[in-house]
Amino acid sequence: MKEHVDGGHGVAPPQSPGDAAETGHAVEALSRLFPALKGFERGQAASAFPAYETGTVPSELLALPEDGVGIDAAVDELATAVEHGCRIGAPGFVGFITTGATTAGVAAQAAAAAAGGQRYLLHAFNALEWTGLRWLAELCGIPSTAHGVFTSGGSTAQLLALGAARQAAFERLGVDVAAGGLPARTGRIYVSERGHRTIHRSAAVLGLGRGSVMSVPASPSGHIEVGALDDALRRDRARGVVPIAVVAVAGTTDTGSVDPFADVVEVARRHGSWVHVDGAYGLVANASAQVAQTFTGVGDADSWIVDPHKWLATGVGVGATYVRDRGVLARAFAEGEAAYLEGSFSRGAAAARSQFDLMGGGWADESLELSAPPRGVLVWAVLREIGRRGVAERVERHLGFARHIADRVRADRRLELLCDAQLSIVCFRYAPPAGADGDALTERVLERLRCETPFVPSSTVVRGAVAIRPCFINPRTTLAHVDGLVDAVLALGGELTAAA
Ligand SMILES: *Cc1c(COP(=O)(O)O)cnc(C)c1O
Repeated sequence: MKEHVDGGHGVAPPQSPGDAAETGHAVEALSRLFPALKGFERGQAASAFPAYETGTVPSELLALPEDGVGIDAAVDELATAVEHGCRIGAPGFVGFITTGATTAGVAAQAAAAAAGGQRYLLHAFNALEWTGLRWLAELCGIPSTAHGVFTSGGSTAQLLALGAARQAAFERLGVDVAAGGLPARTGRIYVSERGHRTIHRSAAVLGLGRGSVMSVPASPSGHIEVGALDDALRRDRARGVVPIAVVAVAGTTDTGSVDPFADVVEVARRHGSWVHVDGAYGLVANASAQVAQTFTGVGDADSWIVDPHKWLATGVGVGATYVRDRGVLARAFAEGEAAYLEGSFSRGAAAARSQFDLMGGGWADESLELSAPPRGVLVWAVLREIGRRGVAERVERHLGFARHIADRVRADRRLELLCDAQLSIVCFRYAPPAGADGDALTERVLERLRCETPFVPSSTVVRGAVAIRPCFINPRTTLAHVDGLVDAVLALGGELTAAA
């Protein structure tokens, strides 16, 4: 495909031999991939998808070639990877809190890969980045005055929000942590014992230390004990500990519990603390009027995170952080003046005539990323397709699935309910016969579900007992899959206890 042109020998100007990479036929390459993509899609849609084999690729694909194989062969090898791809979007997959992209997410990802470039320049995808941020906030009940930035997911979103909280907490004491580092004062983050571990990791990265995260007791249903939170804050204040943030969880990862925001905000404010809402999983549920009451007071927080790649099914790689104080992210995360950037933009917004005249958003100074894809287009695309009603209906359907399992478990003596349905999560197991090891039995049931059935939940521990924990956020899951999961647990549990 390429021509080699002889370079000159000191006399003639050097000639370009051209690049080894094919650069003008992305559409043809995609069409070459289509049969494999279609096959994957069909397999994913089949309700009785067979065993999820681990799916390796031929070893020659894993060797760095000296001379490339060329674009056609490389795309054919990609097709092999597609055939053995990740089946996380299959309708029976209800594990963790994760799912595959719907069609709109895939199309938006392809469009962004081809034409999205960088999110920070002035082009259509930059406009959709802003739109995606605004719509997501509106859907989740985050104030329209809050300032947001997309991130690679909840983990990074958490780090940004808690970094903003750390900046603000020490600013109140006259210290600019971003400039001068942490002072010799103990800072504390408060979250229920059911808080996500990315809070601890954020504390470690932010120099506060994992030990700075105080685990506040939770009720049996997984909600933070507000009285215990109040006591902890009061005790710490008397000792001069700096409250960095109180984290209220909008849907815990284990049981889907939503903390009582209004009470948490009242207590935190009384002790002078920032309130951060970890809504990575559950805040999207606030789009449904049916559940909105659970979220009363959520708009009064100082920061929020939400993961469009969970319930909105954009495909992985999209989280978002919002803050009430519009300047705090830049005070905490600015890269600082850089000649290579500052001098490159000379026009004000009104005068911009080229997409390279101006930064179309200050996110480069308000997050951990200078270069970043326009993730907002994925959010824009899924919301444009199904609207607010489509999201609300999805949420309500999924909440119904969790309640349906809880009802079936209550009605069947062979099953045991470990935590009632909250949002779209429910925890149950096959009831162990007297004297049997219930945890070992549940682990066995889970393993056989993964290896022998299309139904793949994950697990957690509820008050010391291993639980089967489906979480419904997958748009492809239907009631038949929900019943299929319960039937499979009954069948496997029955078989395993009869054999014992
Ligand atoms: C999933 C989750 C996170 C982490 O988000 P990732 O996108 O997986 O990095 C944080 N908090 C809660 C409550 C979550 O459910």
